[in-house]
Amino acid sequence: MPACARARDAKATAVIASQMSALLCRFAVMKSDLPYHIVPQITRSHVSFPSRERLGVNHCPAFRYIQRTAAAFSSFLVVVELNPRRVVSNLSVPEPTMNRLVALAMLLIGSYLLPAQSSNVTLPASPSTVTWGYYSAHAKPVLTVHSGDSVRIQTLSTCGPTERMVDEGVAPGDIPAYNADIYREVKDRGPGGHILTGPVAIAEAEPGDVLEVQIVKIDLDVPFACNGFGTGRGFLPNDFPYSRRKIIPLDRDRMGAKFAPGVEIPLHPFFGSMGVAPPESAGRYDSAPPWMHGGNMDNKELVAGTTLYLPVHAKGALFEVGDGHAGQGNGEVDITALETFLSGTFRFIVHKDRHLLWPRAETPASYITMGFSPDLKEATTLAVRDMINFLVDEKHLSRDDAYMLTSVAVDVDITQLVDGNVGVHAMCPRNIFK
Ligand SMILES: [Zn+2]
Repeated sequence: MPACARARDAKATAVIASQMSALLCRFAVMKSDLPYHIVPQITRSHVSFPSRERLGVNHCPAFRYIQRTAAAFSSFLVVVELNPRRVVSNLSVPEPTMNRLVALAMLLIGSYLLPAQSSNVTLPASPSTVTWGYYSAHAKPVLTVHSGDSVRIQTLSTCGPTERMVDEGVAPGDIPAYNADIYREVKDRGPGGHILTGPVAIAEAEPGDVLEVQIVKIDLDVPFACNGFGTGRGFLPNDFPYSRRKIIPLDRDRMGAKFAPGVEIPLHPFFGSMGVAPPESAGRYDSAPPWMHGGNMDNKELVAGTTLYLPVHAKGALFEVGDGHAGQGNGEVDITALETFLSGTFRFIVHKDRHLLWPRAETPASYITMGFSPDLKEATTLAVRDMINFLVDEKHLSRDDAYMLTSVAVDVDITQLVDGNVGVHAMCPRNIFK
């Protein structure tokens, strides 16, 4: 049976296909200790798909993506074939094991798939492609793409003007030239201070949809980061009533930040700010406080290989990204992270059949819900409540069970304490679902 996955019967195929669809988007990092053999094959053949009903993936959000991907790539048939002596008809294969199996297969065939999936669009940071300090439903798109497209987006740091970095000891040649161009030429600024690249419009997106943002790849563009605090800002402004900054060298080969002699921080690059336009009535929304549109979430879980889901409030969604972080602790207490210049490759998928009030995310290990509010208790309430909603809607638990499961298995963490709206996120491990 030509399909995006093959197994002994339709039910097994459905399990594998839905896992493939979830994993295809993430290209999770694989280990080699797989308990089963896997034989990925790529043959030149016509692709046809079993119906969504037959596969049992009517509610699988990523399945449409698989269909579209394969349709755009119609000369190849992707087959994941499990060793029949060991698996396939045994549907009790634990989800993490299945994830690893499928993702390994996708990794092996990824080099064939990527050129066909990627639209190879690059959005450089320049005076005409950035938005200074806000998200807005009225912002003019600097690029329009389609659902399913990938875009590589270059971004700025929050380390400030080029002269300031040079004064602090950064080699001028290490600072991207567009930083000076943007500080010199962009006059329309505020109310916030983040220089974000975009907005990118996704043509199919309408208010009420969900935008899936697959964070495919993140590159560190410079060998340094900055961190600092300022008077009246951060979590302990009365303990530190003055300003300090330091430049922190990044070793991109070892993926470590040399914070101080004898102190090296492992890097986990992610974007502090990723979001879409808020509702039109919010006007020009300050880039500092995260909210239901995402924005300055400063969530260190959102590294390459993870997926963010954002509710769409404006035509085209109007995605913006920036505030690169090479690393950060939960809480981000002094108000900055390892601030640096990143480029990210994102794949955008518009979901017409899904609806969200607040952002959610998925990592290879966890499902994540979020809450943002000036009040930490209220932010926690929002994150916990949305985790219960997630478990009821997506995992079909009763509300009572969802509340109890959240208590016994879900970590509720402080994302950041310093962005006006503080952030709390709840992380539910994926591997508890068999
Ligand atoms: Zn930042």
